[in-house]
Amino acid sequence: LIEFQGVEKRFGDTVIFKDFNFSVEDGEIVSIIGPSGSGKSTLLRILMTLEGIEGGVVNVAGEPLWHKRTANGLVPADNKHLHRMRHHLGMVFQHFNLFPHMSVKRNITEAPMRVQGKTKAEAEAIADELLELVGMSDKADMYPNELSGGQKQRVGIARALAMQPSILLLDEITSALDPELVDEVLDVIRNLAKKHSFTMLLVTHEMYFAREISDRVCFFDQGAIVEEGEPEQIFTAPKETRTQAFLNAYM
Ligand code: ATP
Ligand code: MG
Repeated sequence: LIEFQGVEKRFGDTVIFKDFNFSVEDGEIVSIIGPSGSGKSTLLRILMTLEGIEGGVVNVAGEPLWHKRTANGLVPADNKHLHRMRHHLGMVFQHFNLFPHMSVKRNITEAPMRVQGKTKAEAEAIADELLELVGMSDKADMYPNELSGGQKQRVGIARALAMQPSILLLDEITSALDPELVDEVLDVIRNLAKKHSFTMLLVTHEMYFAREISDRVCFFDQGAIVEEGEPEQIFTAPKETRTQAFLNAYM
């Protein structure tokens, strides 16, 4: 479903990814762990087309994300192509990024109405269903500043799902939360994984959660996957010294 082939990403002279290869299968839940600055968020931001790439190809659902196939081979994507590709993916951010001037419900109906051309009634029906899913039905008319961090993040998840993406990207969605609010957010993700078998790519510092939910865990360092495997193996018997050192510092 997601495929990075020989991707290069630079910020000025700083090389983040060089000949980077990575893939996620349909229905798979993949966690990325690793030190600060290793390129985890950049990877997700490239998928959301919030960042460009300098070389290589990223395929999403069998189509190049940053390029278009033409008779002359791959050419840089135009806005129309990017726009279409973006809708395969939904992203939840560390700092919620809700629209502060919109009610909880409007936050969720906004994109389906504006981007997908859904009617207000259609968008609200979707929003009601998603608010139920994240346990926020009774807060539909409140504004983001009236919510706790955990509640904001559950709205963030509902908003990402409103566009019916095939892949959910989660970037440290609990790291801005007080510890007692972490579980209510992770419960929503557990539920999506179990009942809805969603494809997910998550960056997390919650090691116990990565271990519990993932089909595969990737340890990232300096823009490369140092080691990947089933959670049991990575967390109980990491092979690489860098993985061992990282996990020792965490657990
Ligand atoms: P963290 O765990 O702290 O969130 P990360 O693994 O998500 O770290 P990234 O945010 O992907 O790391 O950043 C990777 C590297 O790219 C860092 O060295 C960062 O300074 C650099 N970087 C990220 N965004 C930019 C930008 N817009 N301009 C310049 N450098 C950037
Ligand atoms: Mg990050």
